[in-house]
Amino acid sequence: MAGFPIEFANRIKTLPPYLFAAIDEMKQKAIARGVDIINLGIGDPDLPTPTPIIERLKQAAADPKNHQYPSYEGLLPFRQAVANWYQRRFGVTLDARSEVLGLIGSKEGIGHVPLAFVDPGDIVLVPSPGYPVFPVGAIFAGGIPHLMPLLKQNGFLPDLNAIPKEVAKRAKLMFLNSPNNPTSVVAGKDFFDRVVAFALEHQIIVCHDAAYSEIYYDGRRPPSFLEVGGAKEVGIEFHSLSKTFNMTGWRIGFAVGNKQILAGLGKVKSNLDSGIFQAVQEAGITAIQSDDQLTDGLRKLYQERRDVLVPGLKRLGLAVDMPPAAFYVWIAAPKGYTSTAFTAHLLEKAGIVTTPGNGFGAAGEGYIRMTLTTPKERLTEVVERIKKAGF
Ligand SMILES: *Cc1c(COP(=O)(O)O)cnc(C)c1O
Repeated sequence: MAGFPIEFANRIKTLPPYLFAAIDEMKQKAIARGVDIINLGIGDPDLPTPTPIIERLKQAAADPKNHQYPSYEGLLPFRQAVANWYQRRFGVTLDARSEVLGLIGSKEGIGHVPLAFVDPGDIVLVPSPGYPVFPVGAIFAGGIPHLMPLLKQNGFLPDLNAIPKEVAKRAKLMFLNSPNNPTSVVAGKDFFDRVVAFALEHQIIVCHDAAYSEIYYDGRRPPSFLEVGGAKEVGIEFHSLSKTFNMTGWRIGFAVGNKQILAGLGKVKSNLDSGIFQAVQEAGITAIQSDDQLTDGLRKLYQERRDVLVPGLKRLGLAVDMPPAAFYVWIAAPKGYTSTAFTAHLLEKAGIVTTPGNGFGAAGEGYIRMTLTTPKERLTEVVERIKKAGF
């Protein structure tokens, strides 16, 4: 049979190119050569999910009442656990029924929310460098991403004053992310205050991604966007159990905040998916109710790793700041190297896999990202290997 040419739709044909392909190929070649690779490229916790969460899943999975389709918006006890946690952790009051929505991982909600609010030609403001789902979700809805560069001179926060008036006027939605992937920078409440004022002035929906809110160091807890006055009038916040409880594979997260925005997202979702497996939600309740019991150890572990890697890199003369949160280290490529060239150098000469900053958007050029999801001993070796390889 001859068949016919199978053509992709423009919305996927026009996606930004996959910048990691060349690195992947180099990595495969190095592995084939027998190089002992240290992989600092992945943003996925290396430790298992805590036992109490697994035990709750086992029980819940055996219960036939959990074998049906779940409710679209999430079990009320799950949403109530989220609302209670928000009160304890951030001092923010939420109505579990209308101001909390369960998600099949926060990526799902982030990718879908533009479908509810963005019409073709509308602008979506996205941080650059940033989580690739922000611009791609906008593109899938027919929107046009406008990049807000995260520059060192602005403390790696978006400069709202630099957004042209015409752009702000046409913008329907803004994505923000603190603690940030890939820079690890934490936005303060003063920044969130400016965001609310900007959003009110230009009537822009704010979608704040707080996936790393519980991965923080030195006892300094990042604030929620919803802590500032007016935030609930303009926006929602995304959370994930993935990073906080080593549950990336489980697919559970949630969005909270403005009920009209959540209703729009919920409407999209009820037409596309059928909610989170109830047994996973029950396990999620155990996780959320545990507060800091399950997460204190994790923070301590990442902090120890950070305190090995970052001072080590500094001693080698690399320009890098101590991350206050998240598990990423954002490093300026040394003089004479682009992001890609430095990544290639570290892989070829030291067997270390990192991510080139430009993979997160044009403004990430000149940086590379390392992750702290590797044991301390290996991070010590990273520093030794780079020292030996030079740059
Ligand atoms: C890991 C990550 C998420 C979480 O994704 P899930 O779908 O909840 O696993 C969200 N945002 C950012 C920036 C991330 O790095």
